[in-house]
Amino acid sequence: MSNTIFHKIMAREIPATIELENDVLIVIRDINPQAPFHCLIIPKKTIRSIQELQSEDAHILMEMMSVAQALALKYGFDSQGYRLVMNCEEWGGQTVFQLHMHMLAGKQLSGGFA
Ligand code: AMP
Repeated sequence: MSNTIFHKIMAREIPATIELENDVLIVIRDINPQAPFHCLIIPKKTIRSIQELQSEDAHILMEMMSVAQALALKYGFDSQGYRLVMNCEEWGGQTVFQLHMHMLAGKQLSGGFA
């Protein structure tokens, strides 16, 4: 049983600013924002990282993307754009080992990747 900080947030054991929640996922504001808008889109199913995704999880990924689209429309980032990032394991920069996707928006983001 995983017990990451995101599991504790989902269980309401520690506080977070919750942007949205449904049966599949929760969206919270990142505690250390890297852009004016920085949310984390986190599936409720325990999945450690991209490497543990299975084909049966396809609907989860689609829901994560759909929620990003909806947030972009809600906050007016749909035409100017935004960035979605998923870090995978240590070398990919993952620090919380429950699958999540960063959504960054609200400014012109830099072009660097590494
Ligand atoms: P990653 O490095 O891709 O695993 O991203 C983990 C993210 O979780 C980082 O951007 C952290 O700032 C964020 N984070 C860690 N703890 C919290 C928390 N309690 N509430 C909101 N965001 C958090």
